[in-house]
Amino acid sequence: MKSGQVDSIKLFKTIFDQTPISTQIFTPDGETLMVNKAWEELWNLKFSQVKSYNILHDQQLVETGVMPHVKKGFTGEMVSLPLIEYAAKKTTKIKGAATRWLSAKMYPIKNDSSQITHLVLQHEDVTNIKKWNEAIKVSEEKFRTLTSHAPVGIFLTDSKGNCLFVNDRWCKITGMKKADALGTGWSKTLHSEDKKNVYHAWNKFTKTGREFNMKYRFMTPKGKSTWVSGNAVAIYNQEKIITGYMGTVVDITDQMSTLTSLEISEERLRLALDAGKIGVWDWDLRSNTLAWTDNVYEIHDVKKKKFELTLENFVKLIHPDDKKFVKNQIDRTLKEKTEFNIEFRIVTHKGATRWVTTRASILLDENKKPIRLIGATTDITKQKLLEQEKSDFISMAAHELKTPITSMKIFIELIHRDLVGSSNPKSLNFALRIKEQTNRLAELVNDLLDVSRIETGKLQLRKEDIDLGELLKESVENLQATTSHTIEIKNLQTIQVNADKYRIYQILVNLIANAVKYSPNKKKIIVSMKKTDDNVVVSVKDYGIGIDKDKQSKIFNRLYQISDTNIKSYPGLGMGLYISKEIIERHNGRIWVKSEHGKGSTFYFSLGLNKT
Ligand code: ADP
Repeated sequence: MKSGQVDSIKLFKTIFDQTPISTQIFTPDGETLMVNKAWEELWNLKFSQVKSYNILHDQQLVETGVMPHVKKGFTGEMVSLPLIEYAAKKTTKIKGAATRWLSAKMYPIKNDSSQITHLVLQHEDVTNIKKWNEAIKVSEEKFRTLTSHAPVGIFLTDSKGNCLFVNDRWCKITGMKKADALGTGWSKTLHSEDKKNVYHAWNKFTKTGREFNMKYRFMTPKGKSTWVSGNAVAIYNQEKIITGYMGTVVDITDQMSTLTSLEISEERLRLALDAGKIGVWDWDLRSNTLAWTDNVYEIHDVKKKKFELTLENFVKLIHPDDKKFVKNQIDRTLKEKTEFNIEFRIVTHKGATRWVTTRASILLDENKKPIRLIGATTDITKQKLLEQEKSDFISMAAHELKTPITSMKIFIELIHRDLVGSSNPKSLNFALRIKEQTNRLAELVNDLLDVSRIETGKLQLRKEDIDLGELLKESVENLQATTSHTIEIKNLQTIQVNADKYRIYQILVNLIANAVKYSPNKKKIIVSMKKTDDNVVVSVKDYGIGIDKDKQSKIFNRLYQISDTNIKSYPGLGMGLYISKEIIERHNGRIWVKSEHGKGSTFYFSLGLNKT
């Protein structure tokens, strides 16, 4: 052997001894041929002591746990070795732990003709690993017990998102069995419509490491869709590397269903607003900012993208003649903290005038200070035009009728006078009837003219100091002469008011005539007056057909008549109360009604007293 050349046996021996794994070589008759240093250290024995085989505290374990494997190994069979428990002898240098756990590996050494000549048995001390495994098992068990009772669904995944664990609650929410959820199985329970979103959010989450937090649906195998709020966080090891993810799912189906019904009602409202072309606006008084829905832009004929929505710009759209009116109405609303409901004109950028109606509610803070006005606006140009056409027609017709009727009145009066005392009573009677009908026609035309005067703001009042009691007596007496009803006057007194005598007489006649007309079967009517500190209230009571509650505010509208198939129709045009209301309001008074269907009505009007 050349110097510097290493003897291969020596080389083998050195490596064998230095191998840090306990190694023992067996001969086919079960004898130990050699052991290395790691073996001696592990077993705390010298090679010379091997033969005694008393190394394990349980001799039987050697016989039944080791030797059968060695024997089997020589037959060439694959040997899988179980973990063996080794109790270190008292003399052991291994401190603190009497019991060690060994994992063994055995492999054969073969000669050139593939015969097994030796077996190598290597042992590794896995006591610590086993302890850790047990500790992990215990903590896993604890985790399982804890999570299985948790009121939320819990899941654990590895770093790739493969499910490692789900708790009972998770299974209950998803309707999926634990075993089916493992790996990628859990994704089968995702609602088909939400799958894409969940994957997208999960990928984003695993890439950015930020919290996963979203609402999505599971579809149980029975086809029930369950809304959950899902959250997940990454789990890091000591090296700050993500080892997996842990997440929770909370069933929010109930919450979502109320949300959905809220959404549905919002959608319905949106549809209704759209269908009625109603625009909704919101004016924040604190920041003085406006918000409009699309319909408001449309109504004002401005482009949402081009129009800078400020209060100033909105005011620019109001018709110059209506600016002051709108401002006053808003000021009044803010001062009185009431709703407002106004009609005014706007001018579009093309110069067209549009009529709008706006109804708004005021929102107050805890100190009752107005903070917002929220309103709805509708374009009423078409209605307004129609109304205008109606008014124009009424006005034109009334004026055209006025002259021929005046002539008719004069001529029939002359004819009537001629016939009085004539020998033809039949003609006299006819003339009288024509006279009555002509007067009735003249009254109607007068009413029409009044309506037209009201509309055009031309109704003039000739106010003077009058005795209201006297006027009331006169009107009752005049009407009593024309009816079989009994008109009773109560509390008749002399009360001085400053008013248009003719117009107040007109109201009294209208109210009493209505009382007569609408109480065909109850013949009693009570007219009364009552004085308070600063005004006088006149009332006209009948016991007739009465007026339904929902119609009571409408009867003062122009040309309004109650049409009910159950009620027999009465002659009239629905102008009397409208005219009465306008006249009373121009006297700064008020007119109202109290009535019950089938039991009769009482109409009231109030007038301010003369200041003495
Ligand atoms: P009309 O000429 O139709 O009587 P009015 O303006 O005087 O017009 O009245 C409007 C409507 O109010 C009437 O059509 C009727 O339906 C109802 N109305 C007025 N007065 C009474 C009353 N005393 N009792 C019941 N209904 C009344």
